[in-house]
Amino acid sequence: MSVPLRQQFDVALYILKQKLKGNKRYPLVLMLEPLFRCNLSCPGCGKIDYPSEILNQRLSVTDCLAAANECGAPIVSIPGGEPLVHRDMPAIVEGLIAQKRHIYLCTNALLLEKKIDEYKPSPYLTLSIHLDGSNDDHNRSVNRDGVYAIAERAIKLALSKGFRVNINSTLFNNASPERMADFFDHMMTLGLHGVMLSPGYAYERAADQQHFLNRTATKNLFREIFRIGRARRKQGLPKWRFTQSSLFLDYLCGNQTYECTPWGTPTYNIFGWQKPCYLIGEGFVKTFKELMETTPWDQYGTGRYEKCADCMVHCGYEPTAAQDALQNPLKSLIVALRGPRTEGPMAPELDTTNQRPAEYVFSQHVQETMDAIAAGKAHTITDDGSTTPDEGCCDGHGGGKGHGDGHGACCCGCGCDGKR
Ligand code: SF4
Ligand code: SF4
Repeated sequence: MSVPLRQQFDVALYILKQKLKGNKRYPLVLMLEPLFRCNLSCPGCGKIDYPSEILNQRLSVTDCLAAANECGAPIVSIPGGEPLVHRDMPAIVEGLIAQKRHIYLCTNALLLEKKIDEYKPSPYLTLSIHLDGSNDDHNRSVNRDGVYAIAERAIKLALSKGFRVNINSTLFNNASPERMADFFDHMMTLGLHGVMLSPGYAYERAADQQHFLNRTATKNLFREIFRIGRARRKQGLPKWRFTQSSLFLDYLCGNQTYECTPWGTPTYNIFGWQKPCYLIGEGFVKTFKELMETTPWDQYGTGRYEKCADCMVHCGYEPTAAQDALQNPLKSLIVALRGPRTEGPMAPELDTTNQRPAEYVFSQHVQETMDAIAAGKAHTITDDGSTTPDEGCCDGHGGGKGHGDGHGACCCGCGCDGKR
């Protein structure tokens, strides 16, 4: 089953309690980013373009557990950066399990084979491996040869040790529907628990700005992938297991008109609580309460803000689909049984003619955090990896001061060339 029954039950109970309390806005998934340091440099990534001083900052175990308690969301997704580079990640995961949170530990898997025994299988823990396609597609997406092979090996190892394992796949405009279908077929043969699928968000700071999908291209791509999937089921190939709700997949195929629900997946990272969502940092506050009460939510979402124009990402629209499923269980069930509709007219698109123009505030937040670090006032801890190279990656072995310390071979098991 792609989502464990216990998680489905806990989330349903949580939503019911929120409704009974009369809460109109409540979080479903905490996006917890304990660091931005990564041992890859994917061209489509909008999370790693920071000075070393910021890449060396870590949320402490106490910070992470307090944020989860403060927010109260039943699910915690831990992306990054690369979470396995954080030396205290096992303690963070253990602490969140003790809080009975359902955790998605998102990793590019380069360090997973080395570190897997630091974690224990649990119904509360899912390893979510970043894989954007089969060998050539994924290696191109992460800009390094050999990464796919490491990830597939790590998936097999994790499954053999009894972990729940998903993959998370981000699609760009160079994705081939046929190749993606082949990839999903292959992933199903590995015995994965599920696939989380998303169109890439057009991060303003990503190195590659050429391959992001607009909304029309997203819908056409997903329709084509699901059309191929349906044909293959008829030929007897196994059904693809997705972790997202049936209505969110239907939305990606252009069959639902949804507005964004950014408060459904609040983000906490080394800057603080991020306004308004995981994808765009438009300001940071110290407490979750402040985030919920001071963010001008009505100013965000497709049709309202230029940076949201092409967004169809799960962190904004899956909570909307979840609400729709609660209000329309029969519709949700029918889509779940039949799969997303891949033919016929698309649902009306949101009007973007009156959206407000983008504001660019990134450098201001970076400068404020750099000043706080320099003044010793950052609430985070600094870990440049220089004293414990075994805990980090080859980047850390170089003292965390940048790439290319020149030792010429991988020293940490991440499979790199030792020059990163
Ligand atoms: S693995 Fe993830 S965090 Fe690291 S560079 Fe790639 S997209 Fe960014
Ligand atoms: S549409 Fe929603 S999730 Fe997407 S960038 Fe805007 S606020 Fe964030």
